[in-house]
Amino acid sequence: MRRCLLPNSLVRTSFAAQGRSGVRFLLGLGVAVAVLGGANPASGRSPNVLLISVDTLRTDRMSSYGHSRMTSPKLDELMAQGVRFTEARTPAPLTAPAMSSVMTSLHPHEHGCTRNGLRVRPNLVSFSKLLERRGYRTAGFVGNWTLKPELSGLADYFGDFDALLNRKRWFGLAKRESTAEDLNEASLEWLEEQVSDGSGKPVFLWVHYVEPHAPYRLRREYLKQIGVKAGGTFFSARKRYDSEIAYVDHQIGRFLESVGDLIDLHETLIVFTSDHGESLGEHGYWGHGRHLYDVTLRVPLAFVWPERIAPAVLDAPASILDIGPTVLALANVPVPGHFRGHDWAGVLNHGEAAPEGRVTLHQAHRASVQPKEEIEQLRQRGLLEIGRVVAGRKEIIRVTNQRRRIFDLARDPQEQRSVVEVSSEPSEELAAWLVEVRAGLASADELPPPSLTDEDMSALKALGYID
Ligand SMILES: [Zn+2]
Repeated sequence: MRRCLLPNSLVRTSFAAQGRSGVRFLLGLGVAVAVLGGANPASGRSPNVLLISVDTLRTDRMSSYGHSRMTSPKLDELMAQGVRFTEARTPAPLTAPAMSSVMTSLHPHEHGCTRNGLRVRPNLVSFSKLLERRGYRTAGFVGNWTLKPELSGLADYFGDFDALLNRKRWFGLAKRESTAEDLNEASLEWLEEQVSDGSGKPVFLWVHYVEPHAPYRLRREYLKQIGVKAGGTFFSARKRYDSEIAYVDHQIGRFLESVGDLIDLHETLIVFTSDHGESLGEHGYWGHGRHLYDVTLRVPLAFVWPERIAPAVLDAPASILDIGPTVLALANVPVPGHFRGHDWAGVLNHGEAAPEGRVTLHQAHRASVQPKEEIEQLRQRGLLEIGRVVAGRKEIIRVTNQRRRIFDLARDPQEQRSVVEVSSEPSEELAAWLVEVRAGLASADELPPPSLTDEDMSALKALGYID
């Protein structure tokens, strides 16, 4: 596992020609060139922006991040065409809080959505709205129930927004989601409409795929690809999870091929990431949300802009909070000063050194709100853990029992042995972070009260968010 933390060796640029591509837009580009400044100076156009997020995609189950199974060839190939981060983390390992953080570049206690079912505060600045003010047409297509407009409030950040939640993905269970194929069809239809009217306006399109979220469906057609024998009737949860990754990977490959038929991908910035990972039995639990171990904190993250961002692998610590500021900067849109994320445009464009001593901050909350809870209580009582990662060390405190741990991530990537006594006092920095998070949770000003229907409760329960 790469854990290089020396500032001057953070950027490992490779100018070698990439291998044969199954993704049409990548064909023929040959050797990438080092670049070259923000928005496209040749055409004067702002780039199109695609944000592709895959729910619950644990980094180390992708082949490019070291998994022995070939789960993600299309995504690996995509990321190899741009800058891929190996140490990116989510601020909170839960869907709606994490994606709200992506859109606003704020931590959950700041934007208000700390748990699934809580809406973001009104009138926040999202990077999608800033793109819209610059003439972009914006749309979001999401396949996870927790992101539906009535629950998350994220639809307000887009010109068009569609939560496709009509399909039962898993046999007869009352689990309303959409497949990657549904999302491809709807988002491509939208894109075609934008192109066909001849306005020439740039687009920002976000597609959020729900696979491989639990319950992990077996995708038999990908077993051979991932090296699992197809015979038999029982397949472990880990094998089923991997087969779902292979499925969504294939579908994203198809999506990108079709996108390349509609818009010029040389003028398109593609951002790929996930909202959080997944614990597959490690540390005594399955799922995500309740703890800050790296199996759920680490996410894939890549910025791809063919012929404009030189391919590289960065070991510098990053966060999905960085997506908004980086996209804005690459599109030559001023980045709001209050954004919490880092703007990587200088590193991506000019090979500037990554920031030294980067600190990433994290928080874990109970999963879903329930209608009977008072809004102040459901925010404050929902806090479970806070954490801080700097220089390869992660400090966590479990708020409910004051248990403190520090993990040396280079020596102990599985986070098995705390290097401090669990009863010791938290560092000044972590104590200050706890004070800040608690102050934010205590402020319920302007927070819209949650309104969950019986159908919402049923869907959230099926997703494992309500006990
Ligand atoms: Zn999620």
